[in-house]
Order: sequence, then C-alpha cells, then structure tokens
Amino acid sequence: MSEANSMDCRVVRLRCWWFGHEQHPQDSAPPDEATCMHCGEYVPYSAMVGDTRHHRAIDFLHRFWWHIFGRWLPHKCPACGERGKCKPDCDGIPF
Ligand SMILES: [Zn+2]
Ligand SMILES: [Zn+2]
Repeated sequence: MSEANSMDCRVVRLRCWWFGHEQHPQDSAPPDEATCMHCGEYVPYSAMVGDTRHHRAIDFLHRFWWHIFGRWLPHKCPACGERGKCKPDCDGIPF
C-alpha cells in the first residue's frame, strides 16, 4: 500500500516536472503564488504555465521535424492550404 502511494507521488511529481504545475480551475484569478492541484506544492504562478519542459520538447520536436522533412515538402498554399497543387477553385489569395 505504501509502495503504491510513494509510486503515485513520484508519478505526480514527474507529471508536474514535465507539464508544469497547475492551479485548480476553481481557484480565483491568478495570484503570484498558488497551490498546485496535482502535487499540492505552493509554487510561483510562473511555474504553472508557459515554459514547461513539455512545451520545450514539443517545440524542439516541431523544429527538428521541419528541419528534416520541411525542405522536401511542396510549398503549402496560403490560400487553400493544399501542398503542391491548389484546389480547383483556389485563386491563390489568402482572404
Ligand atoms: Zn505540481
Ligand atoms: Zn491554393
């Protein structure tokens, strides 16, 4: 039982470490500091949103992906969003 609890605790901490802390949605407007609804820690608001490791990882993967594959993909039309060949009714003007 205590084994499982300490395991849970580690998972929660890992979750917070990766995704950032989260304030309970029922809490009022963003204070400077708040209690995380996952791990219960009292953390600065900046630790809850924005630059989490998750975001950085996704950002990195995104850039990496485009660096590798972006150059081979046909140019995407800003008007119809099709790659290579435009839709028949596309005039190439994005509005
Ligand atoms: Zn947390
Ligand atoms: Zn087009």
